Parts: sequence; structure tokens; C-alpha cells
Amino acid sequence: MSIKDNLIAIKNELPEGVTLVAVSKTKPNADILEAYEAGQRVFGENKVQEMTQKWEELPKDIEWHMIGHVQRNKVKYMAEFVSLIHGVDSLKLLKEIDKQADKYDRVIPCLLQMHIAEEDTKFGLDNTELEALLQSEEFKAMKNIKIVGLMGMATFTSDENQVRKEFAHLKSIFNELQQRLPEVTILSMGMSGDYQLAIEEGSTMVRIGSSIFGARNYQ
Ligand SMILES: *Cc1c(COP(=O)(O)O)cnc(C)c1O
Repeated sequence: MSIKDNLIAIKNELPEGVTLVAVSKTKPNADILEAYEAGQRVFGENKVQEMTQKWEELPKDIEWHMIGHVQRNKVKYMAEFVSLIHGVDSLKLLKEIDKQADKYDRVIPCLLQMHIAEEDTKFGLDNTELEALLQSEEFKAMKNIKIVGLMGMATFTSDENQVRKEFAHLKSIFNELQQRLPEVTILSMGMSGDYQLAIEEGSTMVRIGSSIFGARNYQ
């Protein structure tokens, strides 16, 4: 199957209201253009430098999402163009995004990343940290960021019940947050291996890489 065929097959599966982020990390521009020509406009990358280079080289109507863990000193390189930052998990990072966005007179939409997996290697906030962030005066004073939703990654396991439970947990946090912040509309959960489950549990945005572009080759 070609990239185009994979993309169309997945798009046909997604219910209305679920946005597809085509995760193009490590993939060449030619692959991205193949998906672009098939109509895809939203792409996800996990390294700021790689995303910035692709932004410079590829059509300007592509929406670039930063889905990886962001180092604060890299925010300045993407502040001009990034459409959505999925992995925000500290007030310090949010402050830096706010500061850099101000330089471009932008409001950058952000998702707060929640820690929902059993593994402790994965990034993200717990409920206490989420509360502390939302209650802080510094957060309330920020003018150049907007929290539009939550992101999470489930445990990497073949145990469907476990994965489903973790997604359902994130969905419940999302529902509560939505009561407080009406601009919260995006729930980013689900990757190639678990997006069907994520959608069943309420995802509104799936981040799919290998099922579109094929396996990644890191060396
Ligand atoms: C790489 C990555 C994905 C996509 O993974 P696939 O299994 O290839 O679909 C999704 N989300 C994040 C945060 C990633 O780093």
C-alpha cells in the first residue's frame, strides 16, 4: 500500500470530529508531499529542529504540530509557525512559550500532557500538578498561550483493558477541565497501535505515524 492508500484508508475509518495528525518524524519531504497531495494538511513532528527545517522547505499551508517533549531553549525556533504544541507539562515551559509567542504577536494553542500510563518513563502532569498549574497566578496572567485541550499516551502493552482504562481516565479529566475552561475542545490520544480504542473512549485527535508512512528507521 502507498502512503496515499494508507492515508485514505485511515481517514475513512475516522468518525466526524476526529482530526488526523499525520506523524512524519524521521520521514523525508517526498513522503510528506505524497500525503499532502492526497489532501493531508496536519503533520506532527517530535523534534523542533526537524520540524523547522520541514516548515521552511514544504508548502506553507501545512499545519505543524509539535507532539514530542519540548526543551525550553528550542521554543524560540518554532514560535513563529507552530499550530499546536501537544506536550506541555510544566509551568516553566508554558512561560517560555508565552514569551516567545509574544515576540511574534501570536497566541499559541497548547495541550497539557497528562501522565496516564503505568510506565514512569513517560512525560506528563498528574492531577495535583495540573491543579497547581491552573491555579497559579503566573498561568492566569499569560496572554500569548491558550490551553485548548489535553494529550496523553497509554502504556505500551497488548492488554486492551489497560489501554482502554487509561484513555477513559484521561477523558474524565478532560470532561472536568471542559467545565472550567470552555476553550478546551481537543483530546489528543491514540497512535497507530491504539487509535481505535482511543476513539471509542472519546479522542478528538489521533496522532498516526507508522500506519501511514510505514515503520521508522532510526539508526
Ligand atoms: C511517534 C509518535 C506518534 C506516532 O506513533 P505511531 O505508532 O507511529 O503511530 C504519536 N504520538 C507521539 C507523541 C509520538 O512521538
